[in-house]
Amino acid sequence: MTMQEIDCLGVYTSGGDAPGMNACLRAVVRTALANDLEVMGIRRGYEGMIEGDFVEMERRSVSNIVQSGGTILKSARSEAFRTEEGRQQAAAHLRENGIDALVAIGGDGTFRGASKLYDEHGFAVVGCPGTIDNDLYGTDQTIGYDTALNTAIDNIDRIRDTADAHNRLFLVEVMGRDAGFIALNCGIGGGAELILIPETITEMGMVKERILSLMTAQRRSTIVVVAEGDELGGAQGIERALRDDDAFSDIELRSAILGHTQRGGAPTASDRVLASRLGVGAVESLLDGHADVMVGLTNGELKLTPLRNVYGRRKSIDYDLLKLTQILS
Ligand code: ATP
Repeated sequence: MTMQEIDCLGVYTSGGDAPGMNACLRAVVRTALANDLEVMGIRRGYEGMIEGDFVEMERRSVSNIVQSGGTILKSARSEAFRTEEGRQQAAAHLRENGIDALVAIGGDGTFRGASKLYDEHGFAVVGCPGTIDNDLYGTDQTIGYDTALNTAIDNIDRIRDTADAHNRLFLVEVMGRDAGFIALNCGIGGGAELILIPETITEMGMVKERILSLMTAQRRSTIVVVAEGDELGGAQGIERALRDDDAFSDIELRSAILGHTQRGGAPTASDRVLASRLGVGAVESLLDGHADVMVGLTNGELKLTPLRNVYGRRKSIDYDLLKLTQILS
């Protein structure tokens, strides 16, 4: 760790947007200004960095955004930034604008890119974990996860009312291409009878048997929560298999894909506080001379983890929670 003089800080949001990114941005901007740094917002993540789409941030640029979903700087995915040429262009724009340190708010892809800016061009970068999936090593929770989880639970509660009224089977698909954090926790919180996640092997035979036993023997509504990345093909994959099976011909079956509703909406109190703490922590870490790290919150304490460990390691779900569903449903 070497102490580095920082005059101008760049900040960007990148990858999938997550509720609370604005609260984090606000914390980054205000902490930097309080430390007499200039702050430049980089629009549309790495796309904007390559195009030089920068905007000077003042105190008032981040007024009245702590409560809003999305990101005022916008987000994007950039193929060009995956190339050396693209990153050279981005680095040139950063230098032209006098930016000498960066805060990256995003997920693991964003951090892979940030690490390359550090390795290849020497920019001090600190990451803030912003993704609804909660799948980042080095922090107990990511910014946006709590909001997405509560949105999913709210939807499951509504679906339960209608499922109960008709004794229907509902397959509810929630976000999570590679990780089952949302599915597992909203399944437990929403009282789902079955939860299917990418981290475990899901057998169609088991799914069918369980549903039939709940719906024919006990004659009650059933909710199956399935993560989009589960290997049976999400809600639609399961629905197809059940419709092709005569044993299910008497069961009323509906699928609901919650999709992008989980990304939007006002961040929960927990996400706003987390985002604010991490935003402040990121700037203070840079001022203390740290770089190429992510700031996370573990057991209530701010903790720095090298970016290569964040994207190089897999955060495990809590398998005890999975056992819990078998007891509770
Ligand atoms: P989420 O988890 O919400 O999807 P993310 O940050 O992982 O967020 P990605 O689309 O994976 O989202 O990554 C964001 C951007 O980071 C990519 O569009 C790309 O520009 C850059 N990026 C990702 N991986 C790399 C890499 N290996 N090298 C350089 N840049 C990368």
